[in-house]
Amino acid sequence: ALLVRGLSAGYGGPPVLRSIDLTVADGALACLLGPSGSGKSTLLRCLAGLLPTESGTVMAGGRRLDDLPPERRRVGLVPQDAALFTHLDVERNVGYGLNRLSRPERRDRVAELLELTGLTGLQRRMPYELSGGQQQRVALARALAPRPELLLLDEPFSGLDPQLRVELRDQVRAVLTELRTTALLVSHDRDEALSTADQVVVMREGEIRQAGTPVEIYRYPADPWTGRFVGDAI
Ligand code: ATP
Ligand code: MG
Repeated sequence: ALLVRGLSAGYGGPPVLRSIDLTVADGALACLLGPSGSGKSTLLRCLAGLLPTESGTVMAGGRRLDDLPPERRRVGLVPQDAALFTHLDVERNVGYGLNRLSRPERRDRVAELLELTGLTGLQRRMPYELSGGQQQRVALARALAPRPELLLLDEPFSGLDPQLRVELRDQVRAVLTELRTTALLVSHDRDEALSTADQVVVMREGEIRQAGTPVEIYRYPADPWTGRFVGDAI
């Protein structure tokens, strides 16, 4: 499970995230919704350890994460723009974080991830030889390769055509279920969040306004703003 308690963080000025409390059950997929600038990416960066926690605690898989460096957190991040290593082929991109494994172990792990994400056969391609959807899948495979406790996805489907979005979304769901990985996914598509997530988390101005099942959020919004924000989607 992911347990965030009283988390505050920012970029030096006034805190962008203000006393965030969030619980995501083991293996669950939580969707993070909120207007632009509400702090969604900042929260992911903070959980990944790319931005220091100013106060509060983060626990995942029974370990305290907030004082660990990013590489020791067992948290995978799929950034919005895939951000693949442009000079490395697919296999090396996916195997990037696996230096601790032996060569055969690494090869097996990479092959397993490529199969899970529908990329088998593309090992030798360079990122510029891939479509946008394939690049996103490589980023997903790379984030999952070290077997993270927690997977963070920042609008991983933006910029893809609607059909590909649905395909990739279902694939992510299936992979998460298969690997039993807890995940937090930022989405700007409220329909998508309500239909895909086990839990929906609504953020506004650096605070969590409401967290609950899609039905709870939709039927019993905590306040009029949340009601309008979620309800507009339907
Ligand atoms: P979007 O939906 O547009 O991606 P978001 O919810 O992800 O928005 P964040 O990127 O987390 O929003 O930004 C939250 C706040 O933090 C905004 O006010 C933004 O201007 C500020 N911010 C983000 N990145 C930085 C940075 N590197 N330095 C200073 N302020 C930043
Ligand atoms: Mg963002």
